Amino acid sequence: MSLDALLPSPVRFLEGRLGALRNPEVLSRYEGWFEERGKGISEAVDRAGTPPLRMFDRFGHRIDEVVFPPEYRELVTKGYETGVVFKAVEEGDVAASYQVGYVTSFYDAGLYCPHTVSLSTAIPLAKYGSAALRATYLPKLLRRDASVWQGATWMTEAKGGSDLGSFVETVARPDGDRWLLTGEKYFTSNVGAELAIAAARPEGAPAGIRGLELFLVPRQRDDGALNFRVRRLKDKIGTRSVPTGEVELDGSVGFLLGERGQGTYLVLEALNVSRVCNSIGAVALTQRALHEAWSFAEGRVAFGKPVAEQPLFARQARERHETLLDAFALAWEAVTLLSEVWRETPRYSDRYHLFRLVAHLSKYWTAEVAVQSAKWAMEAHGGAGILADYPVERLLREAMILGIWEGTPHRQILDGMEVVEKKRVHVPLLDGIAARGGSAVALAMSRAEVDDWLALPAERKEAESERVFARLAGTVARELRRTTT
Ligand SMILES: Cc1cc2nc3c(=O)[nH]c(=O)nc-3n(C[C@H](O)[C@H](O)[C@H](O)COP(=O)(O)OP(=O)(O)OC[C@H]3O[C@@H](n4cnc5c(N)ncnc54)[C@H](O)[C@@H]3O)c2cc1C
Repeated sequence: MSLDALLPSPVRFLEGRLGALRNPEVLSRYEGWFEERGKGISEAVDRAGTPPLRMFDRFGHRIDEVVFPPEYRELVTKGYETGVVFKAVEEGDVAASYQVGYVTSFYDAGLYCPHTVSLSTAIPLAKYGSAALRATYLPKLLRRDASVWQGATWMTEAKGGSDLGSFVETVARPDGDRWLLTGEKYFTSNVGAELAIAAARPEGAPAGIRGLELFLVPRQRDDGALNFRVRRLKDKIGTRSVPTGEVELDGSVGFLLGERGQGTYLVLEALNVSRVCNSIGAVALTQRALHEAWSFAEGRVAFGKPVAEQPLFARQARERHETLLDAFALAWEAVTLLSEVWRETPRYSDRYHLFRLVAHLSKYWTAEVAVQSAKWAMEAHGGAGILADYPVERLLREAMILGIWEGTPHRQILDGMEVVEKKRVHVPLLDGIAARGGSAVALAMSRAEVDDWLALPAERKEAESERVFARLAGTVARELRRTTT
């Protein structure tokens, strides 16, 4: 079979990997809309660069609105209409939501960010919001038309995003049954959203990650006034389909999600949902990159025949295609586990801890595959790959962020290996894959490598964690794929 036949449209690719899809007609319509209209809007949004921020109305009142081209709203709304949030939160069909995300990311990986942060707002609200909060806000996030509200996730502050326990300096003060938040958030994607979840430290709470709580922060107060200010928009090399800003909270009204003392868990739960989105987005971008490379190589002739028929190129393309299938298997395992455990609250089951490890492995490994695939696709285009005339230069720009947001590779490695150390979840992970038909030899070797690593002294263990983590991710991805093909 030709590689082209192996790299069909995103919906056909999903069907090939998963068999029956949840909503094949709806997904096909979404894909068709992208081909006819969405692709063009997405390209125009990317070319236009950072949109302007309109800070004042004609009377000089702060309004802090992102001035999108009118078509942008249509672009971002289609995913909500197709079910990226309501399918998961209202219907409990997490897999269907991630299938929408796959199609979105094939066409525009940056566009999946607003959908991701909306999902990561809706889930904690649905799980941990009071009845009054849920009644007020949740239906708006679950709308199926252009009036849908969007969400945002605000954790990172100026001193750093990896060490939230040390560097979240936003303070929350009680004010009756609500809280007033003061501080600054340095990276706020989907900054035009109507609702955000924000990490903050209640006055007098202990230092470190355990002192953080998660708050729901609406864009407007009850009287219609702005609840926070957008200081500026970031000028980014990619992901221009999502505006990222800096936000100033100045006595901004917020509502506590969950019980006091649960904040760390809520922050990590939200990040884990986003990490699975990131994994699915990375795989879809990888598929798109290989698709573009192959299409170009079929038409480009060198040394008397199409580049696609040159043995070296064909071999590279086949190997990259194998890696794509491995990456999909790993990312989809994360989706499957999340579907099982997403309603859990602390104290979590062993299955939840297994999900955490798979989410870290998947976020780390698929992001790296996406960057390498986008780079190779650019090289496959020769000099044309650098030009804005071809889609691959954008794919590389979009891919570069996948490793960084939702936690850098360092964080995925260290947090993933922490779950291994504390919960020994590599054992059920590897045994489970063996029971499903993975190679007993490869999985046993992987387990031995992790066990040897666990026996190292603390500092060496941390220094050597990437080698073990990366190999574990590669083995798990490959063996999971063997069990599904
Ligand atoms: C376009 C964009 C959009 C974003 N949107 C959002 C958003 O909507 N909401 C939000 O909360 N955040 C957002 N972020 C922030 C993102 O999550 C952070 O950039 C990321 O978590 C890393 O934090 P940092 O940039 O502060 O790097 P730092 O935490 O300062 O880290 C710098 C470097 O040190 C490394 N490092 C840190 N600790 C260790 C260690 N123990 N061992 C080894 N290396 C280590 C890091 O891996 C990194 O390589 C966004 C970022 C970008 C670029």
